[in-house]
Amino acid sequence: MSDSFFEQTSSAPESPYDVSLRPPEFSEFHGQEKIKERIMLMVEAARQRDDVLEHVLLSGPPGLGKTTLANIIAGAAGTQLHTTSGPQIEKAGDLAGVLTNIQKGDILFIDEIHRLHPAVEEYLYPAMEDFRLDIIIDSGPSARSIQLNLPKFTLVGATTRAGMLTAPLRSRFGLVNRLDYYSSDELAVIITRSAGLLNISIKPDGATEIASRSRGTPRIANNLLRWVRDFAQVRGNGVIDADTAHQALAMIEIDNDGLDEMDVRILEAMIYKFNGGPVGLSSVAVAVGEDASTLEEVHEPFLIMQGFVKRTPRGRVALPAAYTKIGAPLPKPENELF
Ligand code: ADP
Repeated sequence: MSDSFFEQTSSAPESPYDVSLRPPEFSEFHGQEKIKERIMLMVEAARQRDDVLEHVLLSGPPGLGKTTLANIIAGAAGTQLHTTSGPQIEKAGDLAGVLTNIQKGDILFIDEIHRLHPAVEEYLYPAMEDFRLDIIIDSGPSARSIQLNLPKFTLVGATTRAGMLTAPLRSRFGLVNRLDYYSSDELAVIITRSAGLLNISIKPDGATEIASRSRGTPRIANNLLRWVRDFAQVRGNGVIDADTAHQALAMIEIDNDGLDEMDVRILEAMIYKFNGGPVGLSSVAVAVGEDASTLEEVHEPFLIMQGFVKRTPRGRVALPAAYTKIGAPLPKPENELF
């Protein structure tokens, strides 16, 4: 199984496909209807008042469209987007560098905003609230603080870990949105659109088959589409239908529920090594040889959403669907964990 299909931690570099398949405006961005409606309303209100947009926070697992939305917001507001990320801003001076390049109304997109250094975060508060930056220059007895006035700008923050954001930072966003996994129907529409852009022939049942195995995630849907296209070209007649999609996805070991090899290993570890739980996430991470934060950001939300795993105050517990999935006998009822 190639890991590249699920290479979707938030720090993964953007592929050229991400950029070329990115919907440029709201009308081409499918799903997330409530969020879209809220943001469109906010853009319209700001436009009517000739004002700058409120700061927006977008949270949710990788590949659901946070960066795409930031680009669309900038386009809709007719402003320029400046992109950076939490780990890239190492010190206050870096932030000053970014902010002093901004024009009135521009959008500053900070990806992985939960990874901002706490000292940098302190500088961001007055910048977001009062559009000013207090910088200390020099050190020792000659140290002094100077104040820079900034043009009014909009911060769009993206995070895969909303829970890791400090309360003061979170409270400075006017609009907080959590993106959810997409339904298979929505993904089928996205796949059909991408196929059109990439000149791929696909039948509706082919799009549905890929959609149902894409973990509710557009980025994965697009990646799988390209794999199935290659398969159809070499082993089939170049057209993607349900049957070709099924065979192509079986070849890279993606099962009917969209679970990948790591998801299955997590379930196996929970059931065979930890008796189905409750077990701490870090123990599971060690057992499967994966980083705990990747488990928490990428794998766990999907396994919870699909009803394979449950979070309890004492740890993670494997649910009956997990036993069925890996073909393990269900535990006896006296094990009252479910
Ligand atoms: P994130 O920033 O949340 O990790 P991205 O915005 O980079 O996710 O989205 C990954 C890719 O998925 C994009 O290149 C885009 O092609 C596709 N995508 C995401 N959301 C949608 C959507 N709602 N409609 C169509 N394509 C989407």
